Amino acid sequence: MPEDLDTMLSVRCPLCLERVEVPLDPGARARCARCERPILLDRPLKVAQEDFDATVLGAPVPVLVDFFAEWCGPCKWVAPLVDEIARDYAGRVLVAKVDTDQAPAVAERYAIRSVPTLILFEGGEERARSVGLEPEKLHDMVRRAADGDG
Ligand SMILES: [Zn+2]
Repeated sequence: MPEDLDTMLSVRCPLCLERVEVPLDPGARARCARCERPILLDRPLKVAQEDFDATVLGAPVPVLVDFFAEWCGPCKWVAPLVDEIARDYAGRVLVAKVDTDQAPAVAERYAIRSVPTLILFEGGEERARSVGLEPEKLHDMVRRAADGDG
């Protein structure tokens, strides 16, 4: 089981761009320590290349990353699924979005050949991957990770 002491998440505030530590607990109403803007973790969090390691690999919970591109049609079909997962698993699984055009080094590191590609990370390691629109596989990946038997 996750320990309360270890449920802080390192994120970049979307407004003031300060990197802040916020509690993962959705009931904690996380706010940026600098500008006090709410940091909402029940929806996908956009993660820039320079924040990927700290936010995704360093997260205390499993992280589902949606690697997408603005020009990609199928990415828009996956987006509502990803939104739903972020809402349903808030506090247990972090959902992040990475724009592959803005994060070429991260896309290369994980050999993203097409978008959308969704990768589930646990403890900084890739655990599962879904390419294209695979709703059942995606839900299964996340369910296993949240249950801790992935
Ligand atoms: Zn801020």
